[in-house]
Amino acid sequence: MLHHLTLFKNSKQNKHITKHRPYKMSVNCNQLSTAVWIYDIDNYRIHWANPAALLLWEADDLTELLQRDFSTNTSEAVQSTLRDYRHTFEKNQSVSMFWRFTPKGITKEAFCQMSGYTFPDGRIGLQCEAIPSPLLKDHSQHNSIIMLSTYNMDGVFISANPAFNDQMGNAVEQFSQLFLTPEHSTEIIAAVKHQEIFESDYLLKTNSGNLWFHLKVSLSHANFTDSELLVQQFNIHNRKLEQIQLTAQVNTDPLTGLLNRRGLKELLEQYIRQNIEFFIYYIDLDSFKMINDSMGHSVGDLVLKTLAQRLQNNATVTGQASRFGGDEYIYIVEKNQSTLSQNHIAEQLITLTNRPYTDLEGNPLLISASVGSACYPDDGQDINKLLLRADAAMYMAKSKGKKRQIHYQKGMEDILQRRSLVAKHLHLAIKNSELSMDYQPIFDTTDNSIHSFEALLRWRNPLLGLVPAEETIQVAEQIGIIVELENWIIKQAIGDLPLLREATLCQAKIAINISGLHFTEPELPAFLLSVLAHNQLNTADLQIELTESTLIKDINEGFFCANELSNLGISLSIDDFGTGYSSLAYLHQIPANIVKIDNSFTSRMEQSAATITSIHHLLKSLKLTTLVEGVETPEQSSMLNLIGINLQQGYHLAHPKPLSYYLAAAKLKQSALLS
Ligand code: C2E
Ligand code: CA
Ligand code: CA
Repeated sequence: MLHHLTLFKNSKQNKHITKHRPYKMSVNCNQLSTAVWIYDIDNYRIHWANPAALLLWEADDLTELLQRDFSTNTSEAVQSTLRDYRHTFEKNQSVSMFWRFTPKGITKEAFCQMSGYTFPDGRIGLQCEAIPSPLLKDHSQHNSIIMLSTYNMDGVFISANPAFNDQMGNAVEQFSQLFLTPEHSTEIIAAVKHQEIFESDYLLKTNSGNLWFHLKVSLSHANFTDSELLVQQFNIHNRKLEQIQLTAQVNTDPLTGLLNRRGLKELLEQYIRQNIEFFIYYIDLDSFKMINDSMGHSVGDLVLKTLAQRLQNNATVTGQASRFGGDEYIYIVEKNQSTLSQNHIAEQLITLTNRPYTDLEGNPLLISASVGSACYPDDGQDINKLLLRADAAMYMAKSKGKKRQIHYQKGMEDILQRRSLVAKHLHLAIKNSELSMDYQPIFDTTDNSIHSFEALLRWRNPLLGLVPAEETIQVAEQIGIIVELENWIIKQAIGDLPLLREATLCQAKIAINISGLHFTEPELPAFLLSVLAHNQLNTADLQIELTESTLIKDINEGFFCANELSNLGISLSIDDFGTGYSSLAYLHQIPANIVKIDNSFTSRMEQSAATITSIHHLLKSLKLTTLVEGVETPEQSSMLNLIGINLQQGYHLAHPKPLSYYLAAAKLKQSALLS
């Protein structure tokens, strides 16, 4: 550096310069349109300049320029900046930026590339090449004149360059005055004390309104005792606005105008950084898919937009709404911004989401939502965990019957994880032949004949092992494959009945459990008929088991479907009686012929004998047959016989077994008879 600059000073020898600075110096230095000069920072004097620099500095000749004393016009801020640059030059680095000059009162701007120049006495000066702004191709990129100001460590203004005064006014007395939020100044001073240099973007108050600047704040040592704050300020307003607009775009959901997933994550990151405690509500519309499928996407969109507006204009709670996915929303409430408890807010959200929506013609639509909530930091310290936990709570709300809110409790996400694992494998279970059926005989103890076989699903997965039937059914309902699954069961069970009958030498019926979701499918009766016909069987050979809750959920629809099956000659059983509503009042309205009293009564037979007896009498008066499940001991069976209940099912009488078991038993019996 020293070598080539020394040569450069004697600009006649510019062949050497070419050798060292090939990028710009291939022409005679004096013909350059770029002004070049060397400045002695300590003595406030220009040490050397080329003709273009004479022009820039409005000098009559070099001698006049070299005699100029810059100390009177150089503010402390500029001097500090130059001293600061000197540290950079000492590391053999250069600085490039827009600079404003006012030689003889004429304002000029140029893009300056500054680097170090070592004087013979070892001091470092500044070598500057200034490209006049009109020569810059991409002027817009660089149109930021550097603004400089200095303050003492308490933030009291010391000095500034003219560019600063132009833009920020002459009345700045405190560093904090620059900011819209004065506290920023304290944060910056603290940061600089700690790490010597601090850089960030701020919206500042200027003569022409609030503008965005990039601030570079460093410690400058004006003398040995006092440190000063040197603030270098670059106008980045337009670029910043573009950037903000772009960020807003990528963070917004186009349909609802709410924050999207990305926007939400940024917001939560900010909360966590600032240690703000908050509640998170995971809102999921119930059966939204049905609205979309049956009424079209434009109605679906309308519902989504309506909910977004309701969340955004929520008068009772001030929170931040975001759309997390299809019909999933996240609502965030800052803990100390709300007078309501976490639970109250959740209830309020349920009320809000349950208000009727409208279709395109303005007809009312009844849609509910389920809400799961969690709390930062109590329920999780990172965003993903919190979201997962609020989601798990929401999932629990769904599985407890939807249209409700549940707060996260420890372990919920394990259930969720298990569910999604089961769901993932269940999708392929039929295709991979992992499903099979067991058949449990239901006996008529008057003559020990088999009244029917209850078909019970078995799913053995290589990874999950044997998955409990109730779990399989619940997941199949949730992932929307219950119809497909139960149609497979219906085909399998009805298809096996003739073989079961042959193996057990009886005319038993096949009893099939049907889920509430499947039961109200309009195609079900026709499907049952076709499978029966395919196996040369009649409707009288089939018994359908429905739980109380299935029938009660939507009484009108449930009763309608039950009547339809009954009219076809298919018998119905009410399953798990006593676990749900246990209302005898509606029983006579259901065209069922069998009521299955739940296992739980049987296991407490001694205590519940009286209850079972009275239920039995009531059922009898309603012309319904009583069946008791879960008969595990000979005593239980005898007691039931005494009460007069003869339809019995349970491990004491027979375990559920696959068809192959019955076939093998029959074969064994046959060969025993033959031998
Ligand atoms: P469920 O309909 O009440 O079926 C009777 C359950 O009791 C069966 O359990 C059976 O194995 C069990 N069980 C039979 N005898 C005894 C006994 O003496 N003691 C005890 N403790 N239990 C006994 P499984 O097979 O695990 O089925 C559980 C539930 O899963 C069923 O209850 C039913 O709600 C559902 N499920 C099973 N298969 C199907 C199906 O194909 N479709 C539908 N929708 N649900 C099914
Ligand atoms: Ca059953
Ligand atoms: Ca049952």
